[in-house]
Amino acid sequence: MENAPLIIPALHEREQPGLYIHIPYCRTKCQYCSFISYPRNAGNPDYLQALIQRIHDLAGDSGLQTWRFATIFIGGGTPTIYDGNALALLLRACFANFKFTERPEITIESNPNTISFAKLRQCRAAGINRLSIGVQTFANRLLGLLGRSHSDRDALKAFSAARRAGFNNINLDFMYGLPGQTLTNWQQTIKTGVALEPEHLSLYELSIEKGTPFARAYSQGLLNLPNEEQIMAMTDFAYPFLAKHGYIRYEISSFAKEGFFCRHNLNYWRNGSYLGLGAGAVSCFSGLRLTNTNDPALYTKMAMAGRDSYTDSENLTNEASFRESVIMGLRMLDGVSLARLRARYGINPQDYYGARLQLFIDQGMINMDNKSLKLTARALPVANQILAELV
Ligand code: SF4
Repeated sequence: MENAPLIIPALHEREQPGLYIHIPYCRTKCQYCSFISYPRNAGNPDYLQALIQRIHDLAGDSGLQTWRFATIFIGGGTPTIYDGNALALLLRACFANFKFTERPEITIESNPNTISFAKLRQCRAAGINRLSIGVQTFANRLLGLLGRSHSDRDALKAFSAARRAGFNNINLDFMYGLPGQTLTNWQQTIKTGVALEPEHLSLYELSIEKGTPFARAYSQGLLNLPNEEQIMAMTDFAYPFLAKHGYIRYEISSFAKEGFFCRHNLNYWRNGSYLGLGAGAVSCFSGLRLTNTNDPALYTKMAMAGRDSYTDSENLTNEASFRESVIMGLRMLDGVSLARLRARYGINPQDYYGARLQLFIDQGMINMDNKSLKLTARALPVANQILAELV
């Protein structure tokens, strides 16, 4: 693989870029998962070494030296498959080689059966200040069906260990629309989750992804999925319940207590700049999008040889980048700022989309005033269809 050497542009000091680090390993592969993740009992030390090498090499880049990262997000996969010492080494390499804003948000994703109090203490001491736990459901029967390698008790224990280890910014991920999931067990899951009082909750509807065991079962008529009405009943329960307990819905799937919106994700939805390290990670800056190889072994080999390993490089035109800003910005309940769109692209959405946008405004699906463009409450359940029309 011969990539042109990466030239990273200088960023304006106003920008708050994010750093994403991908860990492509999980204990087992879930039945619905299409993420870049391979089953492994423990983290691969060579891959970790390669990430650290890459961080050292990029430190010499003069453009990157102007970047002040506001966030780090270690995602996966299951980053906590590595032990605490390994994760601390990774963080140390970031702090020693990159520049950061004051008090960066540093998140790590985890699965309940890969975290212990001792490991979480090490993570906290290493500077990680936000923990995301993939709980998905508290119904053990459904966890088994999803191929998750943990139980409801593991999730409860993990949460309690995280609090004791000093995490005061915790996200819990939950899924609805699961095969055989009833409204009652969804309600129990949400009530149990909220009773823990996490700062942030993410609710995702199961989607059947090509190439997964669930997609095969689905094509054979073997997945007993809830119908649209049942799914609507699940969200109709969850959203007001979360609001009643002080969670602000600030993005289609994201709910947080005041002051705990995920800054890393907000940067994505605002179409900000970010650098992605690791297999399958994506970087985006100055209208350029680069995607690294999905193959951890190849990524490791290239990184150890001091080379980039992106397999896809896309130059976005001003209009394509504008459309992305609109589509991602509409995911946020505050919508997308018209002043920012004009300043960044010199384009007005009404001029650009014309009748297509006007129709959504007339139908009461999109609200546009002189400040912003946003989806209305009516539009949120069908947000994906609307966004697809604006691509
Ligand atoms: S834990 Fe997450 S990333 Fe890992 S296999 Fe399951 S869904 Fe995929």
